[in-house]
Amino acid sequence: MERNALQTDIQFLPGVGPKRAQLLKKELNVSTVGDLIRIYPFRYIDRSSIIPVSSATPDMAYIQIRARVMEIHLFGNKGGIDPEDVRFNAVKRMSVTVSDGTGYMELVFFKGIKWMHAKLKPGEEYIFFGKPAIFNGRLNMVHPEVDAVSENSASGQGSMNNSMTGVYQSTEKLRNGGITGKVMNRLMESALNMALPDIGETLPQYLMMEKGLVPIHFAIRNIHFPKDLNALEKAKYRLKFEELFYLQLSLLKQKYVRSRNENGIRMPKVGEAFNTCYNSLPFQLTGAQKRVITEIRNDMKSGHQMNRLLQGDVGSGKTMVAVLSALIAVGNGYQACIMAPTEVLAQQHFKNISKYLQGTGVRPALLTGSSKTAERRDIHAGLEDGTIGIIVGTHALFEDNVIFRNLGLAIIDEQHRFGVEQRAKLWRKSSCGLPPHILVMTATPIPRTLAMTLYGDLDVSVIDELPPGRKPIQTIAATEGRRTAMFRFLKEQIALGRQIFIVYPLIFESEKMDYKNLEKGYEQVVTAFPFPPYKTAIVHGQQSNEEKKFNMDAFAAGRADILVATSVIEVGVDVPNASVMVIESAERFGLSQLHQLRGRVGRGSEKSYCILMTGNRLSKESRHRIELMCATENGFELAEEDMKMRGPGSLDGTQQSGLPVDLNIASLAKDGLILNDARQCAQSVLDKDPSLSLPENRLLAEEIRRTKYQVRDYSRIS
Ligand code: ADP
Ligand code: MG
Repeated sequence: MERNALQTDIQFLPGVGPKRAQLLKKELNVSTVGDLIRIYPFRYIDRSSIIPVSSATPDMAYIQIRARVMEIHLFGNKGGIDPEDVRFNAVKRMSVTVSDGTGYMELVFFKGIKWMHAKLKPGEEYIFFGKPAIFNGRLNMVHPEVDAVSENSASGQGSMNNSMTGVYQSTEKLRNGGITGKVMNRLMESALNMALPDIGETLPQYLMMEKGLVPIHFAIRNIHFPKDLNALEKAKYRLKFEELFYLQLSLLKQKYVRSRNENGIRMPKVGEAFNTCYNSLPFQLTGAQKRVITEIRNDMKSGHQMNRLLQGDVGSGKTMVAVLSALIAVGNGYQACIMAPTEVLAQQHFKNISKYLQGTGVRPALLTGSSKTAERRDIHAGLEDGTIGIIVGTHALFEDNVIFRNLGLAIIDEQHRFGVEQRAKLWRKSSCGLPPHILVMTATPIPRTLAMTLYGDLDVSVIDELPPGRKPIQTIAATEGRRTAMFRFLKEQIALGRQIFIVYPLIFESEKMDYKNLEKGYEQVVTAFPFPPYKTAIVHGQQSNEEKKFNMDAFAAGRADILVATSVIEVGVDVPNASVMVIESAERFGLSQLHQLRGRVGRGSEKSYCILMTGNRLSKESRHRIELMCATENGFELAEEDMKMRGPGSLDGTQQSGLPVDLNIASLAKDGLILNDARQCAQSVLDKDPSLSLPENRLLAEEIRRTKYQVRDYSRIS
């Protein structure tokens, strides 16, 4: 195959050369012509949609105007700055008045002023793209994007002679190196002329027909140089669909391959211990818990390795499900391990699990970093000879001298905190030959589209029902001015016998400052709640494990009324008597995190409260988050919103693990419908041709082999 134009080194593209090639490599990670073509515009200038300034109103979304720069004013902290004597680090704001003859508009810049000041020439005309707003009674736009009119006028050559022009992500270095928007458009045109003929169709004809997709050449040409809006939409749809389709196809194929292999430990019965535990539960399992346990039970007896994700909101009763699953393993003569991300959580699990195991004759054990040497030796021996049936632990379980006699089930709680290499180690620990069943539990509700991608190769169980009798948690937002009233309320709650969490944000970049805030907060609390009669405990990451445990235990046992803690410490802690969660600087937390914290209360039978303390001035986004928290307790709804606001990468649980692929054009936040369609389509292709060996699927098999998506294979690495 003579398909080499795409692989051509970018420096040989006309208009590039060695210097610009270096820049493109460094700034955009582009080293070949093919790489360049895969960079798509992030927006388009449509000269047919420029509106007169006089018709702009603040309730419009993004608009485009073509206007002349009339005046430029610079302001520092103390007002106007003499334009003859500008020191740009003293400039805090630049105000630019522009006019297109129909009206005036003010453009405001707070950042990148030096660069923008050099770019904007009084008297010149530009195209401005931004969101109109009203400030001090005048129409303005803050930080509009700016394009010189000449940069975007048609070059008069073939494909670029359209009304729409692509705008590519740029950087200051690129612009300084002469790769302006206009140059980028020209490079793209040469790249397409050179390499488009070498791009082969990547989807089978029958799929394109079925889905009404445009051919690849049309899509690529029109994503860069849209003929019109309609052509652009078709191009985008095709490229998004293709991207999501291949991702799902490879995930589903892996899942299929795994389910076909007879490589799981067969666990035919539930066993006595399961029944004993089940029959002595102090409560009825919820319908959702029962359903999930049945799903797990069916997996474990199937003879295939289970790879299941268990999603359930905080407090939905996942621990119970974990215990019963572990008992199935034990009942069939195997061992189970339950891994928690922190020592505090491991201890908590151990305590609860020991309670449930009473009377079953199963011996649980706890192994963490702070287990004593002698104890450790005992545990190692018990794991090796099989007398320990269920082990709860932290990273300590990964150590080399931990060996299982026959590990049959690994339950991983809040899995995202474990590194991939660590999980891989677990597999080599069991001497029974077959890989253990895997149950990954997460309390972070994940939007469906994200779950389909992050865990697309796992079976998913959802506990979508809370145990009965839970009262809704009342969520209230308050600012500093209401602190006295808030403290008074806390005292009333303590007088009723309740306990209180007060959580401070801990964000790693400014750890020192965070601890200062925490200490200051603690002093404030101790002053307002003096001992006696009030008892306040504090837990944070700089304490030793003993100290942490001592303070946590004091709170859990009811010896302290208030627990002051950092956000990282208490995740997962179960204290049913705690009825108030105060979150300080709540605006600094993401929605999922706020929701997690709130889930620490409302576990008992008393009415619970979550108080979000915020600064007086909130950004629009922060305000929206706080309002949502007050409005809903549904974790999935909050997760969807969080993803919409901040994108999938910022969700708790994905930060550390990352998405399995970098999506180039599709968005998990916005393209849920296309994703659904793509997944269904991939599924039906595999249903008919699981090994992708039919002639019409030759392209699919090739493409999957070529693009190795970094899908995490839980059967190996979890
Ligand atoms: P999760 O791990 O999902 O956050 P837990 O397993 O810690 O939730 O359960 C939260 C609380 O609910 C625990 O105190 C547990 O004993 C209790 N619980 C679990 N299942 C039920 C049930 N079916 N009915 C009543 N209480 C339950
Ligand atoms: Mg839990």
